[in-house]
Amino acid sequence: MPIELKDLTIPVWIYDIDNYCIHWANQPALELWESNSLSELCSRDFKQDNSQAVEARVREYQRAFLESNVSFYENWHFVPKGVPKSVFCQFSGYVLDNNRMALLIQGMPTAKLGHDLQVNLTAMLSDYTVEGRLISGNPPFLNAMGRRVAHLQDMILSPAVLKTIYRSLSQSGRYEDDVLMEGVNGEHWYHLIAANVQDDTGQEKILLHQYDIHRRKMSEINLAKEVLTDSLTGLLNRRGLDKRLAEFAAGEANFDFFYIDLDGFKIINDSFGHGVGDQVLQTVADRLLDNSPDNSAVCRFGGDEFVVVVPIHLKSMDDAVVDKDALADQLVKVLSNSYYHDTQPMTLSASVGVAQYPQDTDDLTNIVLYADAAMYQAKRLGKHRWVNYTAGIEQVILRQGVIAQSLSRAQSRGELELYYQPIWEVSRDGSVNILSFEALLRWHNHDIPDVTTEEVIQVAESIGIINDIECWVVNQALTDLLYLRAHVSPNVTMSINVSAVHLREVRFPQCLSEALEDKGLSPQDLIIELTESALVENMADHNSVVRQLVEQGINISIDDFGTGYSSLAYLHQIPATTAKIDRSFVEQVESNTQPLRHIRSLIEAHGMKALVEGVETQEQKDKLLDCGITLQQGFFLGRPKPLDYYIKNKTTGNCEQ
Ligand code: C2E
Ligand code: MG
Ligand code: MG
Repeated sequence: MPIELKDLTIPVWIYDIDNYCIHWANQPALELWESNSLSELCSRDFKQDNSQAVEARVREYQRAFLESNVSFYENWHFVPKGVPKSVFCQFSGYVLDNNRMALLIQGMPTAKLGHDLQVNLTAMLSDYTVEGRLISGNPPFLNAMGRRVAHLQDMILSPAVLKTIYRSLSQSGRYEDDVLMEGVNGEHWYHLIAANVQDDTGQEKILLHQYDIHRRKMSEINLAKEVLTDSLTGLLNRRGLDKRLAEFAAGEANFDFFYIDLDGFKIINDSFGHGVGDQVLQTVADRLLDNSPDNSAVCRFGGDEFVVVVPIHLKSMDDAVVDKDALADQLVKVLSNSYYHDTQPMTLSASVGVAQYPQDTDDLTNIVLYADAAMYQAKRLGKHRWVNYTAGIEQVILRQGVIAQSLSRAQSRGELELYYQPIWEVSRDGSVNILSFEALLRWHNHDIPDVTTEEVIQVAESIGIINDIECWVVNQALTDLLYLRAHVSPNVTMSINVSAVHLREVRFPQCLSEALEDKGLSPQDLIIELTESALVENMADHNSVVRQLVEQGINISIDDFGTGYSSLAYLHQIPATTAKIDRSFVEQVESNTQPLRHIRSLIEAHGMKALVEGVETQEQKDKLLDCGITLQQGFFLGRPKPLDYYIKNKTTGNCEQ
């Protein structure tokens, strides 16, 4: 006997499989087996105590050890002299006389091991007739599965799984997988190994060997669920949607794809806080679930974008009753009903784009793009509506992608420039005076035709480079202001357009004052032009960037005045010095001056100056003067030009005309 086995402090014993007895044991093993001498232990007959399942398992070990030099690790239960013991065992082969293969077992009481290991490695053994009738089970098996199990089908409830097990056994003699089984504590996950074996008499039977993997399996399932769902709303996330789309396509289902974007969610989020914003998104999710047909996939695609996909199995007439247009109407309607914070109503609406698979495209990536493009079109047509995909509208989005790629390198390649358009004070006697220059961004790009500045700004906002670009604009414009003062007029100021996105940057006021100081300029030399919606969004916050700018002494001008949805309701809150009336009003002035007179009074009643942009003719200029509007800007008075133009021409105060 090898000396080292004897001296080990853990229980070690050798089990003679063929003679059902312990062949040798060290002192700790004697204690484990409740024996006071080796001869007593070796005289015990284990044939009576072993269930057939245990016997079969031990024979399996024997076969395995004859074939190769392997070890097995399992938790086993013994009941020596009526004392139950749970032992974590390592089984290896040990060759006795006559080349008989015995088991060398090294054990560690599982009380010393973690709970998980105890549960997970407990070998539950049972054997069955080839028809699936239970013959025997070891105690862990009977404890977990209960004594009512008489047949495999009593614990493997899924007929499909049972069928697969029988099929695998007949084809390869073996089955192995994770299986949901019914035990004394209800449904539970086990790792199941089933094998065809023969008993002593050569009779075929099935040996089952199962491990409790419930906790691991449940966390895997929950993880998989988490991976596929949105944690806020419980709807599918993008990955979950991809999976469902693939399933629909594999099942040869046609489907209608609704791409939904909320109109005005940002304002709610910024004015009421993210907590309220989250509640609104949850309500949106509930409304979508309540109004989508049962078999639909409902997904939060990101931020305030949602997707509903409704499969239509044309083979079954029952399923084909969903009317796409009616559902689109319904979605826009229910999502645009009021939302409440306490009792305060919050307004929100939805823009929806609809694409059909496979009529519009049979490509699962394109269907998203097409519905998105249709949604984008719904936004452009005024929001709060739905639009069907029509061929080609996705070009807008594709173009934005191309612009985005090129624009991200524009600044480092020196492709950006500023043009300056003068803002004049005009009077009836013909005297004119430049008050300010508006800095307008220009991108010199040679690859993409006809990119407008509006497109540039929109893409820069969406890819998150607007702040960088506008910082460059501020520095360049203030540097150029020094030249314009030297060459054109010593008191002109600089008007700079700022995006609503940039306004959310808390460091923005600080950056501006540093830039002004750097150039030796004062805050009064700068006018920031903001659209109504940017102002309203920002003013909701008491410590808003806009208020800080005003406190610093920087002037605010409301750009495109009259095009915002909320001008009257919010006008008194906006601390602007000037309102730039949108050029869409200028066209009307030739036939009717009344509207502009009213607008001017309204602006002045709020303590601001009225300025009109987009003046293109002498007649417009004169009619505006008739309305009492002396601050004017437009192609008639001067187009946007690069700095060099003003320096070379030494423009002093004369209109271009
Ligand atoms: P905006 O601030 O309202 O600027 C006026 C736009 O109208 C300019 O277009 C200008 O060239 C154009 N315009 C001026 N006078 C006339 C006229 O008499 N008739 C017509 N039809 N158009 C006239 P532009 O330069 O293409 O800029 C478009 C918009 O892009 C600007 O509208 C502004 O909102 C935005 N933008 C330009 N530069 C910047 C910038 O640095 N930052 C941000 N956020 N936006 C900018
Ligand atoms: Mg402007
Ligand atoms: Mg404007």
